[in-house]
Amino acid sequence: MNNSDSYLFNPFFSHIYIEQEALKHPNTAKILSRYPNAEYIPIKHYKDVFCRGHQSYGLQKQSPKLILAIKKTSFVYEGAPVCQSFGNQHFYYTSLVMNCIYDCEYCYLQGMYPSANIVIYVNLEDYFKEIVKLLEAYPVYLCISYDTDLLAFENILGYVGQWLAFAGKQPGLTIELRTKCAASQVLDNLMPQDNFILAWTLTPETIQSKYEHHTPSLQERLACINKVMNKGYTLRLCFDPLIYQEDWQTLYNELVRRTFLTLPADKIRDVSLGVFRVSHDYLKQMRKQRPDSVIIQYPYENDHGICHYGRTLSNAMISYVRNLIKEYISESKIYIWKETI
Ligand code: SF4
Repeated sequence: MNNSDSYLFNPFFSHIYIEQEALKHPNTAKILSRYPNAEYIPIKHYKDVFCRGHQSYGLQKQSPKLILAIKKTSFVYEGAPVCQSFGNQHFYYTSLVMNCIYDCEYCYLQGMYPSANIVIYVNLEDYFKEIVKLLEAYPVYLCISYDTDLLAFENILGYVGQWLAFAGKQPGLTIELRTKCAASQVLDNLMPQDNFILAWTLTPETIQSKYEHHTPSLQERLACINKVMNKGYTLRLCFDPLIYQEDWQTLYNELVRRTFLTLPADKIRDVSLGVFRVSHDYLKQMRKQRPDSVIIQYPYENDHGICHYGRTLSNAMISYVRNLIKEYISESKIYIWKETI
């Protein structure tokens, strides 16, 4: 984009669409107070804006609008086969925010949603009620930051703090919050809980700068993890997704060594490892959105509806990176999405 083009775009959240039912919710007032100059537009249902036809994900991504909504049903979903359960039998995820402020080129959200605008469900208390019901039946493992980066919204929403407090009262619950955010200050005044895992995705420096647009650098992420580690948070490192590049061995060797030179391995609860994979249906959409992206246009192998690098390369990448990590962390703490493909 050249300079003159940049003036054509509104800043982030210049317009905020609000479902009528969400207007009176206290979280709505809190969110709006952060954007006093935005234009507020009442709507009947979030889908009237989010699911319109003929939207351009790429253009919207440059100046996304906010949509505040009330979630009525389906507060939790069963974990998808492309995601890792970490050995938990009752694995769920929940979606409080749809879409992300970051713009990773490989992100499945651009294949899943018709719009890059950001939907925030304001009725967090209803999610808690649903999870309490599930907990009456069995222990629950719940991922709360899959379809967004919830920590990156903490200044606006404060949801992470509320999830932490909720986790503290629910011993049968284990929560994972996955993030690339490096704003350690948002965690400063919150209370860590043993059953609340902060999981950072780590990527080689050159992959981050080329493909994970607007995300904090590797150095910033490591510094953030180091800081929150000393506050007693439970930590997971995610070398997931592994992204293929010609020099992938050198890149991942550097990444793993640098990570464990910065972070004491004995303070890490566990590690997640997995190659890039995505549903075939999402990939088709993603390819339309990003026709010039090397990473999206790679000739992935379609393995029963899930696209990945193919057996030989996937297994070589997993095996190589696992051996690197094993030098620092016991193998029993390394969780792999499909050890062999
Ligand atoms: S941080 Fe995660 S959710 Fe956000 S754009 Fe990147 S891959 Fe997608």
